[in-house]
Amino acid sequence: MKTLLIGEYREGKLLDSSYELFGFAGQLGAETTMLVVGSESQLPAFDGKLYLADVASCGEYNPDLHKQLILDTIQKENPDYVVFLHSSYGWDLAPRVAAKLKVAQVSEVIGLADGGFEVGCCNAKMRRTVKPSTARAVITIQAGAFPVTPLGGSPSVEKISATVTSNVSFAGYEPAEAKDVDLTRAEVIVTAGRGIGKKENVEVIAALAKALGGELGASRPVVDAGWVEHSHQVGTTGQTVSPKLYIACGVSGAIQHLAGMKKSDFIVAINKDKDAPIGEVADVLVVADVLQFVPALTAKL
Ligand SMILES: Cc1cc2nc3c(=O)[nH]c(=O)nc-3n(C[C@H](O)[C@H](O)[C@H](O)COP(=O)(O)OP(=O)(O)OC[C@H]3O[C@@H](n4cnc5c(N)ncnc54)[C@H](O)[C@@H]3O)c2cc1C
Repeated sequence: MKTLLIGEYREGKLLDSSYELFGFAGQLGAETTMLVVGSESQLPAFDGKLYLADVASCGEYNPDLHKQLILDTIQKENPDYVVFLHSSYGWDLAPRVAAKLKVAQVSEVIGLADGGFEVGCCNAKMRRTVKPSTARAVITIQAGAFPVTPLGGSPSVEKISATVTSNVSFAGYEPAEAKDVDLTRAEVIVTAGRGIGKKENVEVIAALAKALGGELGASRPVVDAGWVEHSHQVGTTGQTVSPKLYIACGVSGAIQHLAGMKKSDFIVAINKDKDAPIGEVADVLVVADVLQFVPALTAKL
């Protein structure tokens, strides 16, 4: 089995998450080749074949050009799977490639299952197994679902280029608006999950964050309900954080939340359900009612 992994660069730097593609290929037991539009000074570290299009001549991003580079490489490599990260880059390119090849696309894969791929459904409360209906398939993998696998070594590089006519041009990156909180720099984050029950209880969680000199985090339902500003959201559609201490209060541990916080140094979860999935990444799981435990802990502190 062969995979063609599409690595990602941003402003001249290889994104660390590109190594999650190797984690996916490793679990699949597949032979891997990678393609990047990047630079020779920032090559992914692995022993294998790398197709490299020079970002200096290709420009930062053009979907028509990147699609063509990928299609040309597929012709050379004949992979079973073409694998992207489930990022805005992957969302944009994967369907273009799948449609052109007339092959199946499986999006947001979070695991492997017998002869197929696991994807979330029902707002990630359940998993279903998808089997592509074509021999070749285009896959996007969910951030954090597969291990970052740094392999080491240096690839054998084949330089590639393509010429396309395109009515799209790259205008530049615009930094996001300054937020009232930068969770990525926080050493302590105390996060409110839906288990806190109602907006008024955010104060209980914020008080613990304050007592610890940390910041308030939130899961997506808490933000969607308007209890906390989006700038506090942790997860795939929020911020990715790695504080020294992360305390998850009434958070179940859905994959989209874990993707944003599982690299924290020490994780404490407070949940009334001893089997909540957050327990799988927590160093300490406190099985308790968050509205009783947190005020008691804050008072002690
Ligand atoms: C495309 C997509 C992107 C997403 N992006 C994100 C994201 O960026 N961030 C994110 O967080 N989610 C995201 N989600 C949503 C995610 O799938 C989950 O639905 C969400 O993380 C669940 O939030 P929660 O854990 O707060 O709530 P729930 O899953 O409802 O969990 C509540 C938890 O609280 C516990 N609980 C209840 N009452 C108490 C109590 N009194 N004391 C203690 N424990 C209690 C329960 O046992 C449960 O484990 C995304 C989903 C999709 C489909």
